[in-house]
Amino acid sequence: MAEEFDGALLRRGDAGYEDARRATMWNAFVPDRFPDVIVRAASEQDAVRAVRLARDEDLRIGVRSGGHSWAGNHVRDGGMLLDLSALDEVTVDPDARRATVQPGKEGAALLKDLAAHDLFFPGGHCVGVCVGGYLLQGGFGWNGRVHGPACMSVEAIDVVTAEGELVRADATHHPDLYWAARGAGPGFFGVVTRFHVRVYERPKVVTQGVYLFDVDVLDEVYTWAAEIGPKVPRIMELMVFLHRDHEGAAELAVTGPVLAADDEEADEALAILDTLPVRDRAKLALPKVPVTMDDLYAGSHAIYPDDHRYAVDNMWTHAGAGELLPRIRAIADSIPAAPSHFLWMNWDAAGGPPREDMAFSVEDRTYLALYGVWDDPARDEQMVSWATDHMRAMEPLATGIQLADENLGRRPAKFVSDENLARLDAIRATYDPDGRFHPWMGRL
Ligand SMILES: Cc1cc2nc3c(=O)[nH]c(=O)nc-3n(C[C@H](O)[C@H](O)[C@H](O)COP(=O)(O)OP(=O)(O)OC[C@H]3O[C@@H](n4cnc5c(N)ncnc54)[C@H](O)[C@@H]3O)c2cc1C
Repeated sequence: MAEEFDGALLRRGDAGYEDARRATMWNAFVPDRFPDVIVRAASEQDAVRAVRLARDEDLRIGVRSGGHSWAGNHVRDGGMLLDLSALDEVTVDPDARRATVQPGKEGAALLKDLAAHDLFFPGGHCVGVCVGGYLLQGGFGWNGRVHGPACMSVEAIDVVTAEGELVRADATHHPDLYWAARGAGPGFFGVVTRFHVRVYERPKVVTQGVYLFDVDVLDEVYTWAAEIGPKVPRIMELMVFLHRDHEGAAELAVTGPVLAADDEEADEALAILDTLPVRDRAKLALPKVPVTMDDLYAGSHAIYPDDHRYAVDNMWTHAGAGELLPRIRAIADSIPAAPSHFLWMNWDAAGGPPREDMAFSVEDRTYLALYGVWDDPARDEQMVSWATDHMRAMEPLATGIQLADENLGRRPAKFVSDENLARLDAIRATYDPDGRFHPWMGRL
């Protein structure tokens, strides 16, 4: 069978199988789950062949593009793991402000290709994240507060259905499949081989403000962040990082990256950081640092370094500081050494562009996420429990989760509205009646 693929096929037990399985994961905490077959697609037709083979051999399929699913959603027991990382073609139509991009393309690399045409796309914040998984789950990227979740910029997809047919899905052809592909994330029931997306004018000025604080101003910083949220200009991504410094003391970093049309717009946005009430107590205050997109990516990469073990969990909330602070203090007390951290991100969904009718349907004012990072396998259980249990303790304040940082296998949570989950189930029953594609690893 292997010779029928432009790429390669490996069965469990073949030489190279284990290396290939592990290589599909970015997270070094590779799950003990073993697919029967791994197909490394080298072409769109390979994706079609793989689904047809899975039908013939009655294999369930897990799909991988960039392998940045923290949970390793694509690595399941039995069935087929279909690796699309080699499919990374991009085409750009600058006049129409449209592009097509294959799922194995890194968002950061897409931005570079677009910048050559003075264009932009709200790609993810970190190098390595590929558009396949990113766009299916929603996509929270640079200037995402301006353009909405990145899946709102998807106009059509090319997708191999469970029948093994390559079809185009958009608002008029297979509209249900198109609806589902914008938000079903790791539970999508097809193989996307190409996204057709709208692209935007490139922001000309990239800058940010950065403030570092000792943890003794924790209450003041989060109270300010919770109150100021809706007033933050949409071109600023206000984030508060809680982590430990080199000496092991907890500290807070308030960062406000800004992607603006010009200097005036950038300065107006940065002015919101002047309202930080404890500004004069900052250990480091950098009100305006001119940076490049590469600098922003390097900054993100520093807190999400390669070759480490990760356990993450997350939630959306509109709770006020009064309700959140006791839980945040508990996180500060227990936080492991850096680069483990707790992220507070101001999203303010209500103030953004109107949302389209799509599967993606759970978001809120504030995004909170825990990232446990470690190396020693002996700490696996402790680190998993740190991320999962702290998030579980905050569940009463949550409106749901982002599929970007999902931990559904350990803590099932709401990731789309109840109505949209029922519709997704109905569409799955039509397009994938035999359950050819693995569903989410957990759900409520
Ligand atoms: C370091 C790091 C930084 C991140 N930063 C961000 C961020 O800034 N914003 C954000 O929104 N998210 C972020 N994420 C989360 C990331 O977007 C998701 O994990 C996303 O799923 C990754 O896409 P991928 O293609 O690299 O991953 P994969 O692991 O390959 O894909 C995840 C899942 O999506 C499905 N899938 C993937 N490709 C296809 C396809 N072609 N057809 C059908 N189904 C498919 C599969 O079910 C797969 O298991 C980050 C993750 C990491 C590890």
